[in-house]
Amino acid sequence: MPFRKSLSKILFVLLSTIAVAVIMAGACPAAAGPKAKNVIVLIVDGCSAEQYTFARWFKGAPLSFDPYRVGAIRTYIADSVIADSAPAASAFATGVRTSDKFISVGPHPETISGVPLPPEDLRYRPVATVLEGARLLKKSTGIVATSRVTHATPAAFMAHVPSRVQEDDIMEQAVHQGIDVVFGGGRRHLIPKELKGRRVDGDNLYETLKGWGYQIIENRRELQGVSSGRVFGLFAPSHMEPEIDRPRLHPDQPTLAEMTRKAIEILSQDPDGFFLMVEGSQVDWACHANDPAYLLSDLLAYDQAVAAALDFAKKDGRTLVLAMSDHNTGGFSIGNQASNGIYPQMKVEAFLDPFRKMQASSVRMWALIENDQTAARVKAVVKEGWALDIAEDEAQRILSLAASYKDSAHHAIGEVLCPKYTYVGWTTHGHSGGDVPLHAFGPGKPSGVLAAPDIARVCAEAMGFSLPRLTQRLFVDAARTFGGDRITIDRRDPANPVVRIAAGGPTAELPVNKNLLKIGEKLHPLEGVVVYAPNTDRAYLPLQAVHLIRGSRAALPKITN
Ligand SMILES: [Zn+2]
Repeated sequence: MPFRKSLSKILFVLLSTIAVAVIMAGACPAAAGPKAKNVIVLIVDGCSAEQYTFARWFKGAPLSFDPYRVGAIRTYIADSVIADSAPAASAFATGVRTSDKFISVGPHPETISGVPLPPEDLRYRPVATVLEGARLLKKSTGIVATSRVTHATPAAFMAHVPSRVQEDDIMEQAVHQGIDVVFGGGRRHLIPKELKGRRVDGDNLYETLKGWGYQIIENRRELQGVSSGRVFGLFAPSHMEPEIDRPRLHPDQPTLAEMTRKAIEILSQDPDGFFLMVEGSQVDWACHANDPAYLLSDLLAYDQAVAAALDFAKKDGRTLVLAMSDHNTGGFSIGNQASNGIYPQMKVEAFLDPFRKMQASSVRMWALIENDQTAARVKAVVKEGWALDIAEDEAQRILSLAASYKDSAHHAIGEVLCPKYTYVGWTTHGHSGGDVPLHAFGPGKPSGVLAAPDIARVCAEAMGFSLPRLTQRLFVDAARTFGGDRITIDRRDPANPVVRIAAGGPTAELPVNKNLLKIGEKLHPLEGVVVYAPNTDRAYLPLQAVHLIRGSRAALPKITN
């Protein structure tokens, strides 16, 4: 049967060709061209699978992101098995695994085994973020958080500093990044001390933003009123309220979902697309506090924010959505030592009942105890906040533990009460090092067990650009380019250092943390911010500044694939 034989042969060749093509497509990332027009990254700080299960029982329905669990993320950082948010978010933002406290700068040379020693020119140097890449592709960009927007996770997408505590520097860079939409807390870092803010450099960044045509809003009503354009909405001087306390204490503050929906509404008007990072910032703090009420309300607020992103992405069809956490916190468990004996008979309502009655965060409860630290007061506040009739000695234990915890006194409440009155457990007030679930939807979505830096690569590849090329374009080592003897860091005003470059013509001046170059009397806005790395005493500037200083008309190199 020669005909049959040749047909089967043709079929075999055809099928094996398809198989090879499929394997190739799987093995090498698709070459050129963006896959997604928009990317939305949603991060729930300090959370993992067990908390999701808890929130799902409490909600009585699947979480918005449940159907999209595609894998997990390994969370370790360059110098520790257990991550903190600064290096964890830096990995998500830049694709570079870095050291504790670092915000989107390369690691120091002490790494844990398994993490290769960073090459010398990567150490401490700024590394570009996916937000910066999106902006260079002319996409709109946005940041949403419930902490101060200068806190570690949002900071890692907007700024480059060696320590997360440098929140004034972070805000200065965030403003000069030209981000289109910024919603969250942290107003105090926009305003100088003289005007009751926190800034020590005298800068009034409110005025800077206004001068650039930004809309500045401060409450929920004003949020509802904006519908387009560039907007900074900082809804609290410091952090926003825990979701469980917000309706009573600050109903004028928007929810995470309201901020997310508004950000998408504004950013999606850009025909070039957008990048948005949303953080459910306070789940981490709830878990640090071992506080199930705070955890449930903030995690379900995040659930609704992810729902808003997914709603948009499903209609749009060209949006990649990633939802995950940066690390776990609290060592949370469904079940604890005290309830261990009854675990095979744990009924849903018996399990959920204590949490259904909780009406306040432990932060709020401690605020009501702080100025009257008596057992009677503790008992009354716990009765009101968590509907528990606790014993005198339990109230005393809360007070003595709180005294030993100083700045985190409220952590005592959950630690003392959860084992006795609930069926959940906690192993720590700190972070923990396990993998965290990854959820993804849309074009370019990843799957499997990823390393944290892979998240940035997934985002960059979806938008069609190269992060290493972006870093080369945005952060040129000034001394290496012009010669160390031509560079001075002018610290006459210590809060406002300026990089000076004497390269033949008139001296070029570049204020650190800003996107400005001054040559003679002429001021040039730059496509990126100027960064100073104190550990190496080096300054980094956009290649665009180098060209301007040298009078070069050469085109800037492309970052697209
Ligand atoms: Zn934390």
